[in-house]
Amino acid sequence: MGLKVFFNGKLMNREMATVSIFDHGLLYGDGAFEGIRSYSRRVFRLKEHMDRLFASASAIRLDIGMTKKELSDAVLLTLKANKLDDSYIRVVATRGPGDLGLDPRKCRKATVFIITDKIKLYPEELYENGMPIIISKTRRNHPLCIDPRIKSLNYLNNILAKIEATSAGTEEALMLSVEGYVVECTGDNIFLVKGGRLITPPGELGALEGITQDAVIEIAKKRKIKVERKAMRPGELFKADECFLTGTAAEIIPVVKIDKKRIGSGKPGPVTRMLRQDFHALTKRTGAKY
Ligand code: PMP
Repeated sequence: MGLKVFFNGKLMNREMATVSIFDHGLLYGDGAFEGIRSYSRRVFRLKEHMDRLFASASAIRLDIGMTKKELSDAVLLTLKANKLDDSYIRVVATRGPGDLGLDPRKCRKATVFIITDKIKLYPEELYENGMPIIISKTRRNHPLCIDPRIKSLNYLNNILAKIEATSAGTEEALMLSVEGYVVECTGDNIFLVKGGRLITPPGELGALEGITQDAVIEIAKKRKIKVERKAMRPGELFKADECFLTGTAAEIIPVVKIDKKRIGSGKPGPVTRMLRQDFHALTKRTGAKY
């Protein structure tokens, strides 16, 4: 039996779920999405993902046409239909089909779909030994141009940086703000460990407010590790003891080199390792059951 997806209100085989070439999600990247994970038949932070999706939609004045409860239930239904214990879940709401102009008022109904599948973002070896990254020349979207809290379907800014990363033989690129402050990577937030405390950039600089980032901050507080939200220049990265990235797909991944320069000991550090263990434990014990 093939993969079932939820598409505009119904479960169907993936082959049957096709969008119009007039869909503004496709024509203009007009829409919002979420990437969610489930672990051992529990969806991690489903409420927070729904809140963020509806906040993104509201910021672009997109009516998803479903309530948070209906969409959450649809996520659980899709997971059950595919008998997936551990999954990556993509929830997408586009402006829907319209005409060839930009005007969203011409799009009568949002296109809403859910795909539940597996994801492997980075090779296992990088979790064990740490990942090298580069600093991208592409700067992160300025918050005055696109509110970073909107997880929109338009990822070209990040894709340009990703191309730079892969051309340089690395998997990830760090993006700076227009003013030159450390913001985030193409699909992950960034943390430094310095003198026993965690430092991560403040959201106002243009990073997405990460749900994994939030979970890590909570874990750190439980462990009595101080967390600072601070604007940093790239020079600060090289004074850190440890560095790691957080994201739904990536979870927590150590970074050991930036632009070929070593961070800390050049190996994944003890704080990163402890946070990873606590994070994995949290994913197994919490979340909406299905
Ligand atoms: N920044 C960007 C640009 C992202 O796309 C993501 C999600 N992949 C993140 C950060 C991490 O957010 P979360 O922990 O909520 O997945």
